[in-house]
Amino acid sequence: MSIEALNKINQQIEDLSKELNLDYKPNLVAISKTKPKESILILYESGQKHFGENYVQEIIEKAKELPKDIKWHFVGHLQSNKAKSLVQLDNLYVIETIDTIKLAKILNKLLAQQKRTLNIMIQVDISHEGTKSGCSENDLPDLTKFILEKCPNLKLIGLMSLGNPNSIEEFEQMKKLKAQLIEKFEIDKNQFDLSFGTSQDFEEAIKHGSNSVRIGTTLFGPRACKKK
Ligand SMILES: *Cc1c(COP(=O)(O)O)cnc(C)c1O
Repeated sequence: MSIEALNKINQQIEDLSKELNLDYKPNLVAISKTKPKESILILYESGQKHFGENYVQEIIEKAKELPKDIKWHFVGHLQSNKAKSLVQLDNLYVIETIDTIKLAKILNKLLAQQKRTLNIMIQVDISHEGTKSGCSENDLPDLTKFILEKCPNLKLIGLMSLGNPNSIEEFEQMKKLKAQLIEKFEIDKNQFDLSFGTSQDFEEAIKHGSNSVRIGTTLFGPRACKKK
């Protein structure tokens, strides 16, 4: 984990934004799964506010003890029986991995009971490898329609993918899907993000329209293998 790495990435994002003449600043989400709270705190104190986690138990445990103004992103596969614990988290900023109508329905109901709304993104299975979660491109319009029309407690703020590293084809496909949804559902394009790009390919991702990159390894160092 290092502050130098954080500063370097922020500088790279800033330089790239200038070079590309972007009228927005891509957001950096520090993916801290398996890393200790102390490491998160060090980056937090250097100004990083968005952090992402993959496991419900872990995000809850960390959030309890870390500063309340951290904006937590849940980026792991969400099992519906864990949704209830996850939405207890007050400073959960977004769940990026909604991929079924069933999950949207469950979450909406839980949030309605709490009289609150939550940002969500739809995870798209952009690489079609069978091993990855996400909504298929075919099902995307129906899921979007369901969320927009039937889930008043979910605020759809974008699309997310975890595809093959450096696949420009996949990046461009995500951009196209975003454009299609914006047109079909008359969504405000300034309030609809694209979350893709990791340590390996975040610069390429930004060049191809990502405005939320999720970086773990470059910030925190390699992760030990975790048993499933
Ligand atoms: C782990 C993870 C990342 C970060 O990947 P790195 O290669 O460590 O930067 C990004 N997104 C998701 C969904 C992840 O699980």
